[in-house]
Order: sequence, then C-alpha cells, then structure tokens
Amino acid sequence: MSGTLSFDDLKSAVSAGKTDTVLVCFVDMQGRLMGKRFHAVNFVETSYNETHCCNYLLATDLEMATPDGYASTSWETGYGDYVMKPDLGTIRPVPWLEGTVMVLCDVLDHHTHAPVPHAPRAILQKQIARLDALGFEAKMATELEFFLFDKSYDDIRKDGFRNLQPVSGYNEDYHIFQTTKEEGVMRPIRNHLFAAGLPIENTKGEAEAGQEELNIRYSPALDCADFHSIAKHAIKEIAWQHGHAATFLPKWHHDRVGSSSHVHQSLWKDGAPVFVDASAKLGMSKLMGHYMAGLIKYAPDYTYFLAPYVNSYKRFSKGTFAPTKTVWSVDNRTAGFRLCGEGTKGVRVECRIGGSDLNPYLAQAAMLAAGIKGIEDQLELAPPTTGDVYEDAKAGDIPQTLRKATETLRNSSFLREAMGDDVIDHYTRAAEWEQEEFDRVVTDWEIARGFERA
Ligand code: ADP
Repeated sequence: MSGTLSFDDLKSAVSAGKTDTVLVCFVDMQGRLMGKRFHAVNFVETSYNETHCCNYLLATDLEMATPDGYASTSWETGYGDYVMKPDLGTIRPVPWLEGTVMVLCDVLDHHTHAPVPHAPRAILQKQIARLDALGFEAKMATELEFFLFDKSYDDIRKDGFRNLQPVSGYNEDYHIFQTTKEEGVMRPIRNHLFAAGLPIENTKGEAEAGQEELNIRYSPALDCADFHSIAKHAIKEIAWQHGHAATFLPKWHHDRVGSSSHVHQSLWKDGAPVFVDASAKLGMSKLMGHYMAGLIKYAPDYTYFLAPYVNSYKRFSKGTFAPTKTVWSVDNRTAGFRLCGEGTKGVRVECRIGGSDLNPYLAQAAMLAAGIKGIEDQLELAPPTTGDVYEDAKAGDIPQTLRKATETLRNSSFLREAMGDDVIDHYTRAAEWEQEEFDRVVTDWEIARGFERA
C-alpha cells in the first residue's frame, strides 16, 4: 500500500476535472516502468480492472529485442498477451506531469490470471511471503546514485555519446556550494517525489564530478522497490524536462568512479526491529548473524541480480568504494557488506555490491532469499574483517565478469529452490543474451588499440 490516493480519491479528482491521465505501469526485467497512458475517465470506469500488454515485454532487453531461448514466450508461441492488473493500493500523483496520476500493476497470465513467475514484482512478493511465513517483515532502503550531464538525452545521442560533460567540474562529495548550482534539477526531484508520496530523506553530491545520490527512507520491501523504480523514472524525466540527462549506467567512463545502489536491510516483527540485541556484541541479534551469514555465503549466486549487464562489472575495482569481496565489516566501506547503526535500534546491514543499474525487485528478492536461507540453516557469521578489504587474500570474491555471474546463477541450487527453476532459467537466458550481444560488437577500444599497431 505505497500509494497516496484511494480509488475513490481518484474518481473524485477525475469528476472534478483535476486528473485526466493515468499512467498504468508495470516494472520490466530491467526495472523500468512500462505500460500505457489512459484517459482517466476510461481508467476509473473500466480499465482499473485490468488491461493487457504483449508478453515479449518480460523477455526482452534494454533495446526491446526479441531474443530466442525463453521458455515463457517466443515467436513459436506467437507472443501473446499478459494481463496488467492495477494494484489500486499504489495510486499516486505524478506532480511533475500535469493532470497525471500513476498506478503500478501486477502481471498475470492471460488465461489463468495466475501471477507470471518471472515478473519482478511477483519475484519479490514470493520472497516477502516466505519471510512472512517465518514471522518476519523486511524493511529496506535502496540508495540511488547517478550522474547528471549538461546536455539533453537527444543531444547526447546525436553526438554519438561522445564528449560527455557532467554538470560539475569536480568531485562534489557532500559539497553544498556545487550542489546549490544543481538545485534547478535536484530540488524538483526531491519535492515532486515527496509530493508523490515517497519518503524522501535527502540528496547529496557524490564522489565524482556530476555525481548525485538520492536517499529514500527505509520502508517495507515491496514499497521500497516501488519507490526505487518510480524515483529512477522521475529523475530521468525531470532531468529531461530541464534539458539535462541523468544516467544510471554504473560506469560511464573507465577513469571515473562508478554509481552504486547500496541496499540497507533489517527484519522486523510486530513493529519492532529483530536485528537488535542490546546485550550482544555490536548490538546485533543472533538472528541478524544468521541473516548476514546467508547474505555473504550466497553473494556470488545472486551477484547477477545486483549487476545485470557487461558494464556493471567495470565498477568492481580496487580503491573506488565499490567492493570486490564477500565479507562484512563494521562501518568500513571497502567490504561487500557493511554493518551500520551498530549498538542502536537502527542496526542494519548494507549490501554495497549492487550497481545503479540493478532492478530493485530482483536485488531485494535475491537478498531476502539468501537471508532466509541463513536463518533456516542457522548459518554462523564469521567475525568481521578490518582494514583494506581489497587486499584480503582470504576473503571470497564477487564474480568479476557477467560470464562468471551467469554461471553461478545457472548453477545455484539455492536460488533454484528459493525462486523456482523457471525464474532462474529465464534470467540466466537474459544474462547470456546480454553477453552474446556484447560479444558480437566491435568496440572503440579494439579499433583504437589495434587499427594501426596490430
Ligand atoms: P549513511 O551514513 O549511509 O548516509 P543513513 O543514516 O543516511 O546512512 O542511512 C542510509 C539509509 O539507511 C537511509 O535510506 C535510511 O532510511 C536507511 N535505514 C535507516 N535505518 C534503517 C533500518 N533499520 N533498516 C533499513 N534501512 C534503514
């Protein structure tokens, strides 16, 4: 129930002529909002019940290709329809567009109306239900890092994505003066999202020229993922409205720091945090130890869900604040997992592996599955690491390439058990396709390196 408008509120706004457009959206494999723009009268009279979309939308890539190899949908089966079922608990205004509201949909099978298992929202809902069966609720926060560029998306595309100029000329980490210069874009981002019902905490400059971060207050996992997708979408649209471009590409230049999406996680029961044990070391409960041990043990299995593209893996390099090791530490930013809020009721674990390109539904689902496994198997948490974790030879490695992450995903019996073979086969195919597409392309780097000298 992350929305701020009831269906009755919407009907009143439509009768009063205040709302004329409803964006009816679902979240695709890439974490994007896809759907249709309804006339609000049609939506409140009929389409609130359901609408339809082509089923290739959950078997495509960033470019809307129709790759082969998906069991769920193909040219052979004629690319039929899915049902988009509006979740009427998610209706909210879209204050940066005139007369517009938005609703998120669940994706259902056209014939049986059963949830489509590989739809990102369904994947997260399944893990939330498993956690609920254990008596817990997860609260999460995903940080959104991105770069703002001087020019618009269209101009950048017409220039062939060359000579990219970020909006600032220097590292603006925590800078107030530089970020004042960016308020033309960042203030509407904060205020419009807040007015849309997202519990915005702050924005800040990040550790590169033109790099920004948006923080949203932690919420139940499904709301957190909804907020992330809506915020990412809004950041792009609002940047575009102001003649700029925002990118969530994790690494837009090899010499620049990358963008992450750190995920803060805690478990709750009856409104109280169950990661807290004031009498224990660092104020961490035994349950938290099991959850974190699961997160760490299975990190290689689910790295694909935190880093889904070839570019994602360019971020994982030493000395950049992007982690390379599957260990935890106390308030140390070089490890894959950081304990935050130790000794307080806000004690939580932050996963630092994910890039800004992660799909928050898939990332959160995979981490919940790992945490649940840790709890079920009562896994023991190893002691924290200290110092520069990049140099820790004993620490486990995060898969360093998409190829490696694809193989660990394919062979993960833990994820197959938690999410289902159909889901893992589906996303393994998505990962393979991404690599196949990259492998057939001749890059600028190869040409410049070898054209004359090879
Ligand atoms: P940082 O030092 O990384 O800036 P913050 O205190 O700003 O840390 O918190 C980072 C994120 O963690 C925020 O989005 C906040 O809402 C979230 N957070 C705080 N407490 C919890 C909690 N108990 N569970 C999950 N996330 C939390």
